[in-house]
Amino acid sequence: MQLKDNFDRPIKYLRLSVTDRCNLRCFYCMPEEGMHFLPKNQLLSYEEMLRITDIYSGMGVNKIRITGGEPFVRKDLIHFLEKLSKNPLLNKISITTNGILTKAFLPQLKALGIHQINLSLDSIDEQNFKKITRRDVFTTVMDTFYQLLADGFQVKINAVIMEGINDHEILDLANLARMHPVSVRFIEEMPFNGSGKSKKLNTWNHQKIHKQLESHFINFRKITAPENSTSANYTFDGASGNVGIIAAHSRTFCGTCDRIRITSTGEMRNCLYGHNVLNLKKLMREGCNDSEIKTQIIDVIQQRAKDGFEAEKLRGQLNPIEESMSVIGG
Ligand code: SF4
Repeated sequence: MQLKDNFDRPIKYLRLSVTDRCNLRCFYCMPEEGMHFLPKNQLLSYEEMLRITDIYSGMGVNKIRITGGEPFVRKDLIHFLEKLSKNPLLNKISITTNGILTKAFLPQLKALGIHQINLSLDSIDEQNFKKITRRDVFTTVMDTFYQLLADGFQVKINAVIMEGINDHEILDLANLARMHPVSVRFIEEMPFNGSGKSKKLNTWNHQKIHKQLESHFINFRKITAPENSTSANYTFDGASGNVGIIAAHSRTFCGTCDRIRITSTGEMRNCLYGHNVLNLKKLMREGCNDSEIKTQIIDVIQQRAKDGFEAEKLRGQLNPIEESMSVIGG
């Protein structure tokens, strides 16, 4: 069977957050003091995650992205990935990481057939990196970046563009795609900053980022993006890689949305901007069997919003966006 929502969109992509913890403190994601990270028993166990991925892959999900917080801060992640990679119904397992602990696991990831890595990198200026992440680990992260390239991984860089913070680095970041076979993606800033307070206006939306790139690179032109991709991709003369623009706040790509999210606490989320719709951890711990859980998943997937704006509206006044991205998993 192929799970489909109430807009007939097939659901093929699961973003699974394995932890709410992170070893960075990016100011657009969480407060400096960090958050009240949850005790382990409130997080899904690896066995529960495997059961959930089996249930969804049995309903047509064939792609899983492992997110966090920072996935590699969770102990024994590689053993979980070993078991997950044995699921014959999955075509692709990919990971989003900040690169601090990642390098040591590259040989094992390669051996498991996990070739696609998204590296969160908002700055390639050491001082600015430190200002954004509140951690002094720039060299370690760049080491991982070059090792990923050297080992032949498919690397995508995720850079959130923030007004007056790293907007001056857009061209430097894009130039990484001139020098390396990498996809540098510029992401609009989103309100998931753990405080709910929206900061000063950020004018760097997808159009403005596009204009900046187009005005600088020769023969800047659109290229075909993978099906259902949230990224609009471009190349330019002399590029070894490409650049992408993700209109994450403008939400221009919801019409073909094929993804759902599972938080590290086992909450299913039909849309990034929506609220949690089903507590899978509770169902499993109450003893529900797989077919009972499948029935509930099919039920809530029929209540999806048509896009991220509607999903945000449906949260209502009493439930504004206040959570940190590290709780959702991006
Ligand atoms: S904003 Fe929501 S509906 Fe739109 S692409 Fe993201 S998850 Fe899908």
